[in-house]
Amino acid sequence: MPKTSALPLLKDPQSADSTSDEIYERIYLAILEHRLTPGTKLAEERLASIFKASRARVREALSKLAYEQIVEVFPKKGWFVARPSVEQARDVFEARRLIEPAVMRRLAQNMDVEKKTALHEHLEKEMDARKVDDKRAIIRLSGEFHNLAAALAGNSSFTRSLRELSTLTCLVILLYNAPIVASCRADEHERIVEALDRGDGETAAQVMLEHLDHIEGALKLDSTEEEADLEEIFLR
Ligand SMILES: [Zn+2]
Repeated sequence: MPKTSALPLLKDPQSADSTSDEIYERIYLAILEHRLTPGTKLAEERLASIFKASRARVREALSKLAYEQIVEVFPKKGWFVARPSVEQARDVFEARRLIEPAVMRRLAQNMDVEKKTALHEHLEKEMDARKVDDKRAIIRLSGEFHNLAAALAGNSSFTRSLRELSTLTCLVILLYNAPIVASCRADEHERIVEALDRGDGETAAQVMLEHLDHIEGALKLDSTEEEADLEEIFLR
């Protein structure tokens, strides 16, 4: 099963050279955990020094993120964490409302013991993070729940699309949500898993739609403008 958090594989950026995949994963994770915010400039030179990698390697990672619409590149200005527009934000949710109920139905049809275990283990991780109020983990795990469901449903196109869409959702939430960042409501993930346990794809799809409505409903047309300290984010 593909994992979005490949942190154990990563070396300490201060002590070793980073590959472009590692750079990609660290930036991806920083966005997922809301440490990197929309519109942040990703200066090649600074990232190259932070990750002890060549600029070419940094560019390779940034190009991959740009291909996934997570990063934007402007001639003569450089790379920036994407700032999805209100319209793009709506597009993201429209796409999720089409894909995720299909993920639920497909997953309910081919549930097995292993998949149940994976879902319940993930719910437990989410609960543990909430217990200790680990906000970064809560945000990351909330997004990963959706990626996990897609991966378990077993359609690689869903999985790829959802990985992109959930990262874009993270950026959208950061841009258009209240200062206190909301993540997925835990009880809704639980209700989804309960329905999947029973093989009830219709209920799971319905709860998923309500869940997406709640997330989109919390958005405000509000944006934040902040200077980011890249060294602080990655080397802290
Ligand atoms: Zn969720």
